[in-house]
Amino acid sequence: MRILIVEDETSIANFVRDGLEEEGFAVDIADNGKKGLQLALDYIGDYDVIILDWMLPGLNGIEICRNIRKENTDVPIIFLTAKDTVDDVVFGLEAGANDYVRKPFSFEELLARIRVLMRKNISETSIFSASGIELDVDKHSVTRNGLPVDLTQKEFALLEYFIRNKGKACRRTRIIEKVWDIHFDYDNSVIDVYINSLRKKLDEPGKPSIITTLRGVGYKIESDE
Ligand code: CA
Repeated sequence: MRILIVEDETSIANFVRDGLEEEGFAVDIADNGKKGLQLALDYIGDYDVIILDWMLPGLNGIEICRNIRKENTDVPIIFLTAKDTVDDVVFGLEAGANDYVRKPFSFEELLARIRVLMRKNISETSIFSASGIELDVDKHSVTRNGLPVDLTQKEFALLEYFIRNKGKACRRTRIIEKVWDIHFDYDNSVIDVYINSLRKKLDEPGKPSIITTLRGVGYKIESDE
C-alpha cells in the first residue's frame, strides 16, 4: 500500500514517512506543490492515500486537491495542515479532501484516519485471511494456523498486498508499484528474494506453497472461498 506525502517541512515529512514505513507502507515525499501534483498525476491509481499540506511553495494544497479531483479519481486525500479554523476545514473538504488533520497532530490519529479511508466500507474489518494465514492490519500482526509469524516490514507489505487481492493474479509490475516507493530501481530479483523469505516463513513443510507462481505474470494467494 503506497502513500504520497506532499509537505515542505522536511522534519514533518520524514516523521510521517518513518512511521508509515514501520507500518509497512511504501511512501513517496514531494517537498513542493508542483512536484506533489506531478507525482499524484503521474502515479494516479498507485497511491492508496495522499497526505497534503496546505501552505506549500509552488502550488498550494487546495489547488493540488482540486486538480487531482479534476482527473475524476477517488483517491482518498487527507489535509495535514496548521490552518485550523472551522472555515479552513470546510474549505479543505469542499476542495475535495476526504479528511482533515490539524497540526500539531498525533501520528496515531493520522494513522487511524488513513486506515479508515483505506476501507472500502465502514464494516470492512482490519483482518484478512487466506490458507490458514491471518493478517491484522491494525495490530500489524500475522499468524499461521493461530501461531504468530514474525515478518519484516516489506514482507508484511507484500503479504498484505497479496491477501487483500487473494484469488487474483498479482502482476509483478503492480506489486512493485504498490509495495515499493519511487526510489525502487526495478530490479526484479528483489521481489523473488522477498517471495522466497515469505515462503520460508509461511509455508508448511511438504505442502504446496501458499504463494502460487504464475509464470511470466506474477503471483497469487488462493482464496479460501
Ligand atoms: Ca507548509
